[in-house]
Amino acid sequence: MCGIIAYIGSRRVTPVLLNGLRHLEYRGYDSAGIAVLDGEQLQLYREVGPVAGLDRAVPKDLGGNVGIAHTRWATHGGVTRANAHPHLDSTGRIAVVHNGIIENATELRARLEREGVEFRSETDTEVIPHLIRTFYDGRPLEALRDALRLVSGTYGVAVLFADHPDQFFVARNGSPLVIGLGEGETLVGSDPQAIVSFTRRVIFLNDGEVANITREGVVTSLLDGAIFAPAVEQLDEDWIVEDKGDFEHFMLKEIFEQSQSIHRCMRGRLVASEGNAKLGGLDLSPRDLLYYKRVEILACGTSYHAGLVGAMAIERLAHVPAAAHVASEFRYRNPVIGPDSLYFAVSQSGETADTLGAVSEVQVKGGEVFGIVNVVGSSIARTCGRGTYVHSGPELAVASTKAFTSQVSALLLFSLLMARTRHLSPHDGKAFLDALLRIPRQVESYLQDPGPLDEVASIVSRARYTLFLGRGFNYPVSLEGALKLKEVAYLPCEAYPAGEMKHGPIAMMEEGTPVVVIVQDDSVKDKTISNVRECQARGARIIAIHTQGDHEAAACGDISIAVPRTLEYLTPLLTVLPLQLLTYKAGVLLGRDIDRPRNLAKSVTVE
Ligand code: GLU
Repeated sequence: MCGIIAYIGSRRVTPVLLNGLRHLEYRGYDSAGIAVLDGEQLQLYREVGPVAGLDRAVPKDLGGNVGIAHTRWATHGGVTRANAHPHLDSTGRIAVVHNGIIENATELRARLEREGVEFRSETDTEVIPHLIRTFYDGRPLEALRDALRLVSGTYGVAVLFADHPDQFFVARNGSPLVIGLGEGETLVGSDPQAIVSFTRRVIFLNDGEVANITREGVVTSLLDGAIFAPAVEQLDEDWIVEDKGDFEHFMLKEIFEQSQSIHRCMRGRLVASEGNAKLGGLDLSPRDLLYYKRVEILACGTSYHAGLVGAMAIERLAHVPAAAHVASEFRYRNPVIGPDSLYFAVSQSGETADTLGAVSEVQVKGGEVFGIVNVVGSSIARTCGRGTYVHSGPELAVASTKAFTSQVSALLLFSLLMARTRHLSPHDGKAFLDALLRIPRQVESYLQDPGPLDEVASIVSRARYTLFLGRGFNYPVSLEGALKLKEVAYLPCEAYPAGEMKHGPIAMMEEGTPVVVIVQDDSVKDKTISNVRECQARGARIIAIHTQGDHEAAACGDISIAVPRTLEYLTPLLTVLPLQLLTYKAGVLLGRDIDRPRNLAKSVTVE
C-alpha cells in the first residue's frame, strides 16, 4: 500500500525514483508521481495507473539530483491525477508525498481555506504543504515540525523545498520509513525493497522522529527539536533484490518457493535429540512458558488464517487454550488482557496498521506481545521487541502464499515448544519433528504433479458461486482458499466449516455448483464425507482435496486432487497448495492482474 522513495546524491534522480517506484509496485497502488528539483525549480509529474505510464510522461532529459516520489493508494478522494502525490503549497515551492491518513484534515482544511488557501485536490495530504507554508520563514525543518505538531493521524512524509535544493526532509508517525546511507548519496524508502539495491546501511525511523537528509547523511531529531544519534543497522541478505526468474508471475514463483521458505523457517530451530523446537527470538525459558495459561493470536487476512491453524495446533498439541482474533475487531472491543496470556501478532509485512493497533492495545493494558513477522526491522517486530521472524524472503505478489505456510510453520514450532513444557513426550515430539522435516520434500513432490487443476480452474472461473469446505485444521485452509480466489480472480465464493454448511449455504447448491472440499484422512474425515454427500444430493460438483492413497475420500470427488500424507496438524501446509494454484490458474484464465489485483495492497498501513 502506498510507497515513498526519495533520493539526494550525484546520480540523475529521475531514473532512481522511477526505478524505486517500480520496486514498490508490488504493494498495490492506483497512481504515481514524482517531484524533482532541477536547479531551484520544482518539476512535478503525476499519472493515474501504473508507474510505466508515469515513466512515459516524464521527459527523458529531466535533470536534477534530488527528488521525492510516491505510489498512492487512495484513502481520501478519488483516483485522479489531481489527487496523486506529490502535493504542492500555493506557491509551488514546497512538495510533499505522504503515506497514511491525516485524521483532522477536514478541520485543518477549513481553517486554511478561511485563511484564503485554495486547495487543488480532495486529499487529506494537501493540508501538509499548505500548513508548512504558513510556518515557513526560510527555516524548512522548523516549519515542518510546526506543521506536523498540528496534524493528527498517521504519516510517513517526504518534503522537498525549492529554496533548499541540497536537502530534503522526512518524518514518521505510524507509516514506516527507512533511510539508506550510501557513499555520497542518501535515500529514503517506505520499504527497504526500494533502496536495497543502493545500500544495506539503514536507519529505521521511529514514530515522532524527523530527519534532515543530505547527500552526506542524516540528522535525526524529535518533533520537539531534540537531536539524537540514530541506530544504524545492516539489512540482512533476506533483502535480495528479487526478479521473477523463469516464472511468469511472482505469485507462481512464490508458490513454488514454499519448499525452501518452509525449510528456512525451520532451519536452526529444531532440537532433534529432545524432540523439541527452539525459538531464540522469543527469549522464553521453559519455566516462562509454563506460566502462560492462554495464547491469543492477533492478525488480519491470510495471517489470521495462519493464526487459526496455529491456535488449533497450540490447543491440541499443548493443551493450552488458544484463539485467533481479527485484529481490527480485537482492538476496538476493549479486550480483557489476561496477565497470564501470551499474545502473538502475526503479519507478513510487520506494518499492518490494524495489527499494530491491537499490539498497542495489549501493551497499554500490560500484556506481553510477541511478533511473528516476515519483514525484518518492521514496525510490529520493533514494537513487540521479541518474536520470531518467519524468513519467507521478500513476498512480492500482493496475494500472500509463502508467508502463510511460513507463519503456520512458525506457529507449529511454537506449539511443539509449548507442548514439550507440558505433557508431550520426547518420543512424540520427535515424531512431530520428523513429519515436519518431511514437509519441504512433500511440497516439492506435490508441486511437480499437482493434479487436474486446469480443469478445476475452468469450472470455478465459469461458476456463479463456489463454496470451500473444511473441518478442523482445514477449515482455516478453506477460508484461505476462498480469500485467495476473491483477491486474485475476483470470483464470488465463500468458505464454511463443512458441518456448518447445512445451516445456510446449502441453499446455494444447485446442479453443478462447484464445492471444493478438503477431506483429509484425519479425525474428522467421516464427518466431512457426510457433508460432501449432503452437497452431492443437491447437485453440487465436488472437488476433493484428499490424502494420497485414500481411495474412499478420492472417490467422493467428481474431481480428486491428492496431496501427500502427513500428520493431521501439518496438513494445512500441503492442502493449501492446490488452493493457491487453483486461484493462480483461474486468475490467468480470466486475464487478471495476478501480482497486483485491483484495490488491494500488500502492506495495509491504514486502518
Ligand atoms: N491519504 C492519502 C491520500 O488519499 C495518502 C494515501 C496513501 O497512503 O497512499 O492521498
